[in-house]
Amino acid sequence: MHFARFGPVRFAHLPTPFEPLPGLTEHLARPGGGGPALWIKRDDCTGLAGGGNKTRKLEYLVGDALANDCDTLVTQGAIQSNHVRQTAAAAARFGMGCEVILEARTGSQAVDYNRSGNVLLDELLGAKLRTVPGGTDMTLKLAEVAAEVADAGGRPYVIPGGGSNAIGALGYAECALELVAQANAAGVEIDRIVTATGSAGTQAGLVAGLAIMGADIPVLGIGVRAPQEAQEASVFRLAQETATLLGHRDRVTREMVVADCDYVGAGYGLIDDGVVEALKLAARTDGILLDPVYSGKAMKGLIALSNAGAFDGETVVFLHTGGAQGLFGYQSELEGKL
Ligand SMILES: *Cc1c(COP(=O)(O)O)cnc(C)c1O
Repeated sequence: MHFARFGPVRFAHLPTPFEPLPGLTEHLARPGGGGPALWIKRDDCTGLAGGGNKTRKLEYLVGDALANDCDTLVTQGAIQSNHVRQTAAAAARFGMGCEVILEARTGSQAVDYNRSGNVLLDELLGAKLRTVPGGTDMTLKLAEVAAEVADAGGRPYVIPGGGSNAIGALGYAECALELVAQANAAGVEIDRIVTATGSAGTQAGLVAGLAIMGADIPVLGIGVRAPQEAQEASVFRLAQETATLLGHRDRVTREMVVADCDYVGAGYGLIDDGVVEALKLAARTDGILLDPVYSGKAMKGLIALSNAGAFDGETVVFLHTGGAQGLFGYQSELEGKL
């Protein structure tokens, strides 16, 4: 895999750390020596205005935008979108405009959800925000805003939600290479990677990268929104597109794509006791800050599956996709539960 061919711009702090999780490993130990040995890949530490998994994608997307002589990034997300925050920061870094459409997807009226956390940072980073009701056709809306930018004499570059197209997913194919190199250097045999999966680019890129290098490491995506069938279909489609872009379409097979969507709870961005428990456990065992929407839900799934014996005897790497800035958008929700 020759990534320089795609002209990424480089601003992420890479490689991100690859570390053991001794506290959580001990907590999840089961009688008779069961439970997983847990490691963590710290993609919450990618360095761009708080970091997170969108940063690796943005290295490729901004590279493509600049190669196409664009001057304004146009994107969308939920109100507490980490993707929007990182896109706003990347735009600032490269002197570009940033036009954002925020979808009121959770229906929350809470002031902290609508004003604090990522929203506060989006504004600080100079992004131009507009909010639309939940259920709006966001693809159509992106095209409308891009047309407005062009009408005003700008040169828009549209980034889909989550930065999840084949160009963005290249960032996670590259992450697969980075992670396997770190595991090899540390003498760690990875049995499985577990991560949150939403707009699919992270899991798709990882699957494509691992498949092309022939690493034989399964990836389990824990869904945060869609049901399993739809989630796996979108990850598979994007993994194939990404592998195709890398010149190896046939390496990705359907059975390489596995998503468990049993931990979504009441819906995208809605938290429950299992999420709160996961947030507390990661914080109080290993000092890791997860987020309420993605990594907290993925950890809720990891804990439940681990307790059911699904990872007995395995070395499991939790890919931390970031998002802790969103915690401040959930202050009132978490009040009294910590
Ligand atoms: C966007 C996001 C995800 C999901 O990644 P996808 O590539 O959209 O599947 C996971 N965790 C966090 C913190 C995110 O912001």
